[in-house]
Amino acid sequence: MQNAPKRLRVAICGAGIGGLTLALSLSRYHDIEMLGVEEDLLKTTENKPVQGPVPSFNWRKSDQQAGFTFTTLVTNGTLITLHRPDFQGVLLKRLPKSCRVNCSKRLRTYTQRESGLTELVFEDGSRTFCDVLVGADGLKSATRRALLTERANWMQARGRWQDAADIASCIDPVWCGTIAYRALIPAERLRAVAPGHPVLTTPTQYLGKGGYILGYPISHGRMINFVAFVCRHDLENTKFDGPWVGASDRSQFAGLFAHWEPEVQALVHCVDKTLRWAIHTTKPLRSFVSGHTVLIGDAAHAMEPHQGSGAGQAIEDACILATVLGHPRTTRENIPRALRIFDEIRRPATAGVVEGSRMNGRYFSFEIEGVDFDRYTGAQLWDQLQKLKSTVVKKWEWTWNSSIDDSIQDTLRRLEGPEF
Ligand SMILES: Cc1cc2nc3c(=O)[nH]c(=O)nc-3n(C[C@H](O)[C@H](O)[C@H](O)COP(=O)(O)OP(=O)(O)OC[C@H]3O[C@@H](n4cnc5c(N)ncnc54)[C@H](O)[C@@H]3O)c2cc1C
Repeated sequence: MQNAPKRLRVAICGAGIGGLTLALSLSRYHDIEMLGVEEDLLKTTENKPVQGPVPSFNWRKSDQQAGFTFTTLVTNGTLITLHRPDFQGVLLKRLPKSCRVNCSKRLRTYTQRESGLTELVFEDGSRTFCDVLVGADGLKSATRRALLTERANWMQARGRWQDAADIASCIDPVWCGTIAYRALIPAERLRAVAPGHPVLTTPTQYLGKGGYILGYPISHGRMINFVAFVCRHDLENTKFDGPWVGASDRSQFAGLFAHWEPEVQALVHCVDKTLRWAIHTTKPLRSFVSGHTVLIGDAAHAMEPHQGSGAGQAIEDACILATVLGHPRTTRENIPRALRIFDEIRRPATAGVVEGSRMNGRYFSFEIEGVDFDRYTGAQLWDQLQKLKSTVVKKWEWTWNSSIDDSIQDTLRRLEGPEF
């Protein structure tokens, strides 16, 4: 995709949520807080936004015969579920004609020229030039590969072997030890097996040792969105053998949940085919930027999905990068400095979210240092579960209690400050 503004030619590699939001933000610069997509997005979902405290998920301790709800997650405002293609469709519809979208090209690599131009090389052999290359090409980003290879070679040429090795180790994604099994269950099927099952109406998370299950109604209650996470945190950062995403069935995960409460058994029983995702992440990068190239979204910081924050962070990256690239003080001459501002703001912010998401996976699968839930009963177990709830909520409440406004203001202060 190429944007053709008057001042800078920005090439965005990848038309996922991050890339499309950036394209739209750039085209609407000066009004980026109001992307103008809210109304269209709300037409694609049955959730209605409600302000103030809203019960969002029941959390149950489920790895036993008699499971029980130990808390309800209350968020500030409704959690709105969106179907990814619908979201992308709304963004695409809003792009102006000045923004060229090309869905048939895949970037192979790029070269930064001394002139300041960046040459893009595509898989079909074609080439083009831009002033700024944005790698929004997801987990297996070709832009990240080229950027880190260039950095590692630079280190190697100066005899900095350890630095070169560290940088090169971040090129490929790593498995986090978790597999997600996703399925859609027709509500009728669940109702037939378990009339009045709570998940038919109430989003619920079933937690226990070694994994957890998430279930909530979608499509006006006609379907249940089901995800079972099987967590082997001890295998974090190892290589996953086999395809990362593939078709599967319940025999692959039912064993872990075999002794869990009847509500869980009913759900698992109703699952037919599943999509299996071996969850991969990127290792923390030293920088999202090199010269005139910058990474956003999963290309920069693919994270575990336990806070549901990956797409949101890609969107926030896009808003901050649009603020930087669209600012009148950003010119061809100072692109590297401007991109460094993006890096200084977004790298620490996203690192916190990456770690919060990682820790949520541990909390939800009862993998907490020094706490063995099997050792507690009665009031002691209840206390431990309340502590768990407080910890998770405290680390997660930024998602519903904060906005990107402060970061935008910080970005503008730096761009407009004397040192820029
Ligand atoms: C199981 C699971 C559940 C999740 N649940 C949630 C959730 O509930 N909420 C949430 O916010 N996030 C969730 N996420 C994370 C979310 O999907 C990602 O963080 C988000 O999609 C990242 O957006 P992106 O635009 O950076 O990358 P992507 O969505 O991956 O888009 C990258 C785009 O680049 C294109 N591309 C790739 N390579 C090239 C190339 N060489 N040249 C050109 N184009 C290329 C791809 O085709 C794609 O269109 C989940 C992830 C997983 C695995």
